[in-house]
Amino acid sequence: MTHDFLQPLVGCFAMPAGEDPTVVMIEAAFRHHGLNWRYINCEVAPEDLGDAVRGARAMGWRGFNCSIPHKVAVIAHLDGLGASAEIIGAVNTVVRRGDKLIGENTDGKGFVGALSRVIDPAGQRVVLFGAGGAARAVAVELALAGVAHITVVNRSAGRGQTVASLIDDKTPASADYAPWNGTYAIPKGTGIVVNATSLGLYPNVDQTPDVDTDTLSPDMVVADGIHNPPLTQFLKAAQARGCKTADGLGMLVGQGVIGLKYWTGIDADAGVMRQALLDLGL
Ligand code: NDP
Repeated sequence: MTHDFLQPLVGCFAMPAGEDPTVVMIEAAFRHHGLNWRYINCEVAPEDLGDAVRGARAMGWRGFNCSIPHKVAVIAHLDGLGASAEIIGAVNTVVRRGDKLIGENTDGKGFVGALSRVIDPAGQRVVLFGAGGAARAVAVELALAGVAHITVVNRSAGRGQTVASLIDDKTPASADYAPWNGTYAIPKGTGIVVNATSLGLYPNVDQTPDVDTDTLSPDMVVADGIHNPPLTQFLKAAQARGCKTADGLGMLVGQGVIGLKYWTGIDADAGVMRQALLDLGL
């Protein structure tokens, strides 16, 4: 029997660490590409985060993901931030570069990667529903990918205005906030519509953003951050209107592909990773 104590490790610091599709997706890629690596899910209480990061350093981990509630708190324990993580102010992926641990944010990068297979974001006008952590990351990456303007539509005005100001102040794109009082009509000239709220996430699969779907037109691309189920009511309505769509499973896989590139240097097979998630029943 052989023991490979030098097997490279990456992982996730989460709280609580439950069933995590990311483990399945990343380990499927390791197997497919013949990498003898492991991805480990660790439950880390907020007060233990510093010790957990020191442990990852001491054990030579190649990196790790951070879930809520660690995405902001982890920054104090790192040596530096990537450009978009700096603007977003949150980290979901940590990468060991030399002897430094650098924080990156792949939430929005995965989204833009998946979206870019359907439309080039450069120069587009975007309507973005939501202003939470996912929306903030998506907005920053869309802005860095060259969209012209983002209208942030959110139930809570304060959070919506904060994301719009962040885009206006810290990126080359312009942005404004639009209140979400009743059914929202998509303005003409919009190229990309994004649901980055939690509406439609399992088990609330019948929830959908309050949008006048008659204002969707076939020249618009509609994207949803919800990965479970991948075909949300919102995407179904958009497809019925003739729109091209990008689903949240593509965003999740896109994040995994970028994380694997950071950690291992390989270009992972997105199809294998998506199939591993579909096999889970997502
Ligand atoms: P947050 O809790 O930070 O934000 C939730 C957002 O949804 C807020 O804008 C909130 O509005 C809005 N919202 C919630 N309920 C309603 C409602 N009834 N009506 C209108 N707006 C509502 O969550 P996150 O940003 O972290 O995540 C949002 C979604 O994105 C999650 O469902 C998550 O699964 C998904 N996600 C997907 C990823 C992927 O890889 N596919 C990656 C990361 C997230 P308000 O500000 O008014 O409360």
